[in-house]
Amino acid sequence: MSKGSVELIGVSKRYDESLAVKEINLKIPGGSYCCLLGPSGCGKSTTLRMIAGHEAASDGDILLNNRNVTDLPPRERGTALMFQNYALFPHLNSLDNVAFSLKISGVSKEERHSRARKMLDLVNMERFAEAFPEQMSGGQQQRVALARALINEPEVILLDEPLSALDPFLRARMRTELKRIQQKLGITFIHVTHSQEEAFALSDQVVVMNHGHIEQVDTPVGIFTRPRTAFVASFIGGHNIISGKQQNNQFSPDKAVTIELPQSLHSDALQERTVSLRCDRIRIASQPFEGALKAVARIEEVEYLGSYIHLKCQVGEQLCLSVYQNDADFLSHPFAPGDSAYLGWQNDQLNPLQ
Ligand code: ADP
Repeated sequence: MSKGSVELIGVSKRYDESLAVKEINLKIPGGSYCCLLGPSGCGKSTTLRMIAGHEAASDGDILLNNRNVTDLPPRERGTALMFQNYALFPHLNSLDNVAFSLKISGVSKEERHSRARKMLDLVNMERFAEAFPEQMSGGQQQRVALARALINEPEVILLDEPLSALDPFLRARMRTELKRIQQKLGITFIHVTHSQEEAFALSDQVVVMNHGHIEQVDTPVGIFTRPRTAFVASFIGGHNIISGKQQNNQFSPDKAVTIELPQSLHSDALQERTVSLRCDRIRIASQPFEGALKAVARIEEVEYLGSYIHLKCQVGEQLCLSVYQNDADFLSHPFAPGDSAYLGWQNDQLNPLQ
């Protein structure tokens, strides 16, 4: 792996009685953008803090560039952590905030100011060099905090929910900036978020966590098109999760409903089967159609979401499928609750879940 690679081997974190992180194994290639994604309390920040060295691992090893850093203090790891609340010094202007750690290491004023200006330039904040934190917006403080984290030329930068305090407009702008800076510097970014959209927009690699363990590591496309577990499919959204008893080439999520499985999932054994089916891969029509017609449904709810419409369709007694229909199709024939609808999909859209 190239410079800035991170490897976790059997890493756990115990707080008193509870295990916040459970024996995780993870490889993050150097120079990549990696997001740790999952609900609140799943162990993302603890994992990040262990990589930074601000939290000691209870078990396991942490490798940076194949060097075991498990017992090293933060400053000897080659990592930098950017905190959620920016933690800028209120009595220092931007330039001195960014230069602070260089001052502590005895770097001359001229050199540290010159390096700090370069960093402020990188984050487009050179005009605010003399400004104090209280004179800047949240987004501007964030950029200064990023410049401060980058000043020591870390190989790995660790960001804990860096966009969560920003309004949606700024969040989207800063997201683009983070990606630009990561690509320009070519260093490893590890970014904690609970937003699937943020993780997908930024990452080369997404790590989905749940209850202290890793559910799936993949590219955004891999996560979305082939979620491996029901948790991943439901957390990222946009998928139906369908369970039932399988017999040979079909399974029944409901007494009245039988779903045919693709060849790859055929099995002689009688077993429980769970699959995911993307909401935007279900064809919906008011009349029966040729080909992949699978079920007749009753529309329960219609939710207008702009570019697409979320239709909740009751199939049989127990199966309710969510269907995303594009707005043009919906507007040419708007469904209303109580209407009948015909649903269809290709068998190979059924993705097996563990
Ligand atoms: P996330 O970042 O995914 O929201 P955290 O890593 O912050 O999750 O927390 C994981 C679990 O560890 C949670 O159950 C949390 O309550 C617990 N935890 C985190 N920090 C501490 C601590 N300092 N002491 C005790 N428990 C903690």
